[in-house]
Amino acid sequence: MSIRELDSAFVAGTYNRFPVEIVRGKGSVVEDVDGKTYIDMGSGIGVTSFGIADDTWRQAVTDQIAKVQHMSNLYYTEPCVRLAQMLCEKTGMKKVFFSNSGAEANECAIKVARKHAAEKKGADCFTIVTLENSFHGRTLTTLAATGQTHYHELFQPLTPGFVHVPAGDMDALREAAAANKIAAVMIECIQGEGGVVPLSMDYVQALAQFVKENDILLITDEVQTGNGRTGKLYAYMNYGVEPDIVSTAKGLAGGLPLGATLLGEKVQNVLGFGDHGSTFGGNPVCCAAACSILSRIDDALLAEVREKSDYVFRSLQNADGVESVSGMGLMFGIRTTKPVAEIVSACIEKGVLCLSAKDKLRLLPALNIPMDVLRQAVSVIKEVCAL
Ligand SMILES: *Cc1c(COP(=O)(O)O)cnc(C)c1O
Repeated sequence: MSIRELDSAFVAGTYNRFPVEIVRGKGSVVEDVDGKTYIDMGSGIGVTSFGIADDTWRQAVTDQIAKVQHMSNLYYTEPCVRLAQMLCEKTGMKKVFFSNSGAEANECAIKVARKHAAEKKGADCFTIVTLENSFHGRTLTTLAATGQTHYHELFQPLTPGFVHVPAGDMDALREAAAANKIAAVMIECIQGEGGVVPLSMDYVQALAQFVKENDILLITDEVQTGNGRTGKLYAYMNYGVEPDIVSTAKGLAGGLPLGATLLGEKVQNVLGFGDHGSTFGGNPVCCAAACSILSRIDDALLAEVREKSDYVFRSLQNADGVESVSGMGLMFGIRTTKPVAEIVSACIEKGVLCLSAKDKLRLLPALNIPMDVLRQAVSVIKEVCAL
């Protein structure tokens, strides 16, 4: 049987895969089983921050694998401690909890917010406000946090304690806070799965001010927007706000599973012995990978991300068949005249792998995608949109 037949026979049918089997790659170019090459404009959904099989990343991973691949959190290992230190020094946050995914990073954020509120404001203060059109993960609790009801329907009852308000609407937030005892507000500064929709500067600042005045925690979900993706280390840094909790995952370890929940001053000591845990969380190989990735996301790299971003905006805005381009840094949502599924398929034909989000074309290329490769991909996308 072919891999496609075996997949449909043995792998749970949750993914409607494209008819492409990738066997290897280097940087931003991947190769399929027939030897056809593609420019990778999705980087595993914003995961392979420095591309496929990047030499520096690979060295960090293989060096750590040769030493110790896992020990559990019963003992100290250096990479997780170094990574926590690096994350705190780069953000001003105080403590880090490590897990394996974005959903788990958000679960931890939610648990911290609930415990903090229960201790400080009483057991009835547990509601977390999130935004409509948000995406926070697939576990029952992070699904409940996700402000898109179509994800909820098949899995009732979800974890209670979440209220969704429309993004950009401060009055709706004030009303939600008047009607419920709010522990935290959780936002994606740029709604990724929701179609790469940045929140407005005014709204994020007003929201941050409001939660501060009302002793409510601010959680920013930086699972997709974090680790250099938006041209700053974390997306909230574009907005001049200071979250109390930051969750991240996707691009953090450059292609290995790692989630991190960063805890600010107010909540740094909320978690005590036994309050939370993870068998794989803080795994030395994943953390060594993340140390390598984070140490390379410096000012020069971030400036490059912003330059390439400008190039993509300039090239695609006003292009034939393109209605609008939204996003920030190397995170783009492109509304096309033709249905996005057609665009994605035509791009595959022409050797470019793109993502979609809702009804938009979504691009999340590697942060270090070479300019000539980016130009080639953009020219294919332009051509396909214009057809
Ligand atoms: C992808 C994503 C998640 C979920 O991450 P997983 O690693 O798939 O659990 C959560 N929040 C946001 C904003 C995401 O983009």
